[in-house]
Amino acid sequence: MQPRRKFPTTRSATTSARYAKRRKNRLARVDNDLTDAEWLRLLDAWGGCAYCQGEGAALQRDCVQPVSRGGRYTLGNVVPACASCNASKHNTEVTGWLRRKKLDERAFLLRHATILQALMPDPEQ
Ligand SMILES: [Zn+2]
Repeated sequence: MQPRRKFPTTRSATTSARYAKRRKNRLARVDNDLTDAEWLRLLDAWGGCAYCQGEGAALQRDCVQPVSRGGRYTLGNVVPACASCNASKHNTEVTGWLRRKKLDERAFLLRHATILQALMPDPEQ
């Protein structure tokens, strides 16, 4: 007996094209648009390195989702990171890296979401 499938396992060509187009438009719209003003708001909101809470040393713009993995320099994807965290994280996936560094992954994700909600109340706009 054949197992019943609730959803088709493959997308039709039309659907795939539509998704690809939508994704392309979305990326074009938000491409690297972090302004200096937004960066200052991020620095203010985090009050230090987003990952280790370190202060003092100049904080760098770190893409939570690395650029090499499709991340962009946008308000929703950039956090302040100290030179040490930035260099260590490099282009690895953030949650795996946090776990390896024994940093509090849950606290980071929660804080990131809270800060983004405060800085951009409607992320869909
Ligand atoms: Zn750090």
